[in-house]
Parts: sequence; C-alpha cells; structure tokens
Amino acid sequence: MLKESCGVFGAKCFNGKCVFDFLYWGLVAQNHRGHESYGFLTYAGGFRRHVNVGLVPQIFGERYSRWRGFLQGSVGIAHVRYGTSGDRSSLSRLNDAQPMISSYAGEKIGFAFNGNIVNVNELRSRLKASGDSGAGCDAAVLSKILAISVGDGLMSGVEHCMRNVEGAFSAVCLRSNGELFAFRDPLGIRPLSIGESEDGTVKAFSSETVGLDINGLRFTSDVEPGEIVVFNKDGVVRERLVKKDRTAFCAFEYAYFARPDSMLNGKYVYSVREDFGRNLGRRFRDVVEKSDVILSMPETAEDAAYGLHEETGLKWERILRRHRYVTQRAFILEPSERVSTIDKKVNIMNGRLKGKKVIVVDDSIVRGDTTRTVVRKLRRAGAEKVYLFITFPRITHPCFYGVDMATFSELIGFRFDEEGVAKQVGADGVFYQPLEDYVKATGMGFNELCLACVTGEYPTELAQKMAEAAKASKDVKDERRIYERTELTGREWSA
Ligand code: SF4
Repeated sequence: MLKESCGVFGAKCFNGKCVFDFLYWGLVAQNHRGHESYGFLTYAGGFRRHVNVGLVPQIFGERYSRWRGFLQGSVGIAHVRYGTSGDRSSLSRLNDAQPMISSYAGEKIGFAFNGNIVNVNELRSRLKASGDSGAGCDAAVLSKILAISVGDGLMSGVEHCMRNVEGAFSAVCLRSNGELFAFRDPLGIRPLSIGESEDGTVKAFSSETVGLDINGLRFTSDVEPGEIVVFNKDGVVRERLVKKDRTAFCAFEYAYFARPDSMLNGKYVYSVREDFGRNLGRRFRDVVEKSDVILSMPETAEDAAYGLHEETGLKWERILRRHRYVTQRAFILEPSERVSTIDKKVNIMNGRLKGKKVIVVDDSIVRGDTTRTVVRKLRRAGAEKVYLFITFPRITHPCFYGVDMATFSELIGFRFDEEGVAKQVGADGVFYQPLEDYVKATGMGFNELCLACVTGEYPTELAQKMAEAAKASKDVKDERRIYERTELTGREWSA
C-alpha cells in the first residue's frame, strides 16, 4: 500500500461566522490523505495557528470549545500531511507540518499544499543565492518562493510560481489581510474542488468533495489547472493564469487515494471503481470461470469487487475484514512497519476458504510486501489457488508528484513482469487491468491524465530527465528519492 501526499481545506464565512467548524470537519473527512501531521491556520486580525503530529484528534465538549476559542476568525486554511519530501523523524514531521507561514517585505502568507515539487533542489539553490537559508521540505521552499513572488502582486506572483515551479501543487493560502486564495499547477495533477453553502455565505476549497459534503456545502466546480481563485471582501475572483495544451490529473487517485464517495472530474470514484471490476471480469473471464469466489482487499478494492461480481455473477464474499481501529494505511508506513501493520489490519474469517480457488481484488501492487502478507494469510486459511485481480496497471516507474514511490528499486513491477510478480508474492497469477480499460473507465482522455508510473512518460520535463537518468545509472538500487538526489537534479536542467 502507498503513502499519500496530503489533503487541504480552506473556507471563508462571508457572514462573519467562526470558520473553525468547517476546517475541523473538512480535515476529518480527508484524514485518509495524510496521517503524519495536521494543522489549522485562521485569521482574526492576526494569524492563529495550531499544528501537531498524527491523526486529526477527536475533540468534543469543552476541548472542542477551547480549540474553537483559540482558532478564531471567519477565514482559515487547514492541512493533513503525509510527507513525500524531507525526513520522517517526529521533530521533522512537526517542523514540516502545514499550514506554514512565510513573510516577505512585511507581508505574511499562510500556505498549505497537496503535491510534490520536482525541481526542489534548483529552487532551494535560488533561495540560497538570494540570501535565504533555503532549508526545509518542498512545502517550505514553495511557501517562501510564493511569499517573495506575491510581493510584486498576487496574480503575477502566483503566475511566476506556476511557470517556474515544476511539479504537482494544489494550494490554499491565507494572506495577512484575511484574503483566501487557492491555485493549482498548470497540469492539475492533484484535485482541488470548490463548494459553497446554499445561501452562498460560506465558500470553501477542499482537496476532495467529501470535505465539502461533511460540512453541508455543495460542490460548485473544480479549481481549473493553472487557475487562481480568490475569496476576498468583494467576493470571488477567478483567473486562468497559465493554460497548457494538456492536463495530467493523477490517474492513481481513482484507484487508491480518493474516497469512493468523492467526485473527481465529474464522476463518483466508487462508480469508476465498479467499472474497473467489470473490466477485469470481461478481460479475464477464463480465470473467473475456474474460480470459486471473489474476495476484496478492504476497503479500496470493494467497489471493484462488486463490479466484478455484477459482471460475472461469481459469488463475492467479504471474508477479508479490516480491524477498524488499525488506522494506518500501510503504504504510508516505514518499510519495517508495513508488513506487521497489514498483518494486524486485515483479518480473515477462518474455515471459509478451505480448498477454494479465490480471486482477490486489490487496487495496486507497489512494493509487493503487503500483497505477499495477504497471500500468505490466505494460504494459511486454506485457499488452494490465489489469483490477484489488480485495478491499477503494473507500476513500473517512480512518482515525483506526491506519491511516495520515488525510486525504481522499491517497485516490484519495475523488477518483474506479471509472472515474476506473481512468483514474488506467492500467488498463482496476477492480472492487471489493461491501461486502455483503466483510462476509459475514468471518463478522462490519455492527454488529461498523468500515467507516468505506468508508462514512463512524465508530463513534465525535469521529471522525464530524472527518471531516464536514474534508470540508466548503474545504481538503480539506490534507495534515496530520485528528486532529492542532487546529482540527478543538477541546476543545469533548470529552465
Ligand atoms: S506518476 Fe502515477 S501516482 Fe504519480 S501523479 Fe502520475 S499517475 Fe499519479
């Protein structure tokens, strides 16, 4: 399983009401996007900030009132993080927690983003050259660059960032005059939606639409790729600052990251996942015919398993269950923690599988260690044959845009073909959904999606060069994230 990048939320109550309730519930609904840290920043004549490590805590009663009392104001931003940049110690997690505040020429800007910066080393060098320490994770670097750029004007400053920062960034920002704005990179790699209350007095940004739903806000539109949207005292200002001839929305959001009840690009994720399952059923009917039962990995593969069951009529049994309060998503964990967590997280009802040939539907295989653990558990429970139906096509290349699979060596799909992967994880067969089926189910076109981790074709220039250089280098076993390797991200590649 995989680490996610982050989730953001921002809201402005034009009626002057306290914004904290919206921020808090917006984060709770999106906690699946980041478990490492959370944070709030509000504005009430000055900034109020609270960040901490771990999950967004359950607070109620007097404690909730205390938080609400501290995080005053009618406008604010909030963030849950899983870091795909910087180190992972507790202290770093706290230091890197967002929202962050950067200042320049007397102005302060609060900043929170979802994504990952590819040319972070180059940007860091530029900051150092201009006298800044240049230290910190990619969020700190982008936050500083934004604050400096906005010194020349909001629109031109954000446009400067869009043109000079390579990577994925869906950001929400708060100015020290109480203005709230959000923007998305020109390729629109990570999601960012806009919603409002029925009477229009509350307007909000949320990575996923579930952050709006929980607050009773209705979805109105997405922030378009390359667009800035400002909520200020005069209302709403929108401007498309940079327009490219293609977009590159992360295809993996559909298979794994997003909640099934979120809507991405006009489609509910659960219905896309059901289609994934139907596609698998049509493509691999011969495997279905020799199997006794469909199982699904809880919870991201359940909708696909339902689609497969509907398409083929094969029985779907929910024999794999999740221990509800083991909350870590295994992809988010350190390698040493991953296997034991999946072992504790997934429970198999014994006695139901003896001698059975089972199809297990899962969203993806990244490193293979969690899949191997599940297959082993199924064998122990008596399964005679284990066939894996995987909704996301084989991952053969690293991601530089906010998913923490940033080396070749960690990817089992880079090292092995389908047959090799099956052998490595102990399964009798691995059947990936073909790419064209996957894309069709999303309702998007090939030139609207990022598919780099499957095709090796990156939608940005430096990412392509880095991947090719890393692949060609003899030390493809290197475990450092490729975009943090200065020898691969040299300034000679900067624009
Ligand atoms: S490389 Fe893969 S995981 Fe990363 S943004 Fe592209 S599709 Fe998403």
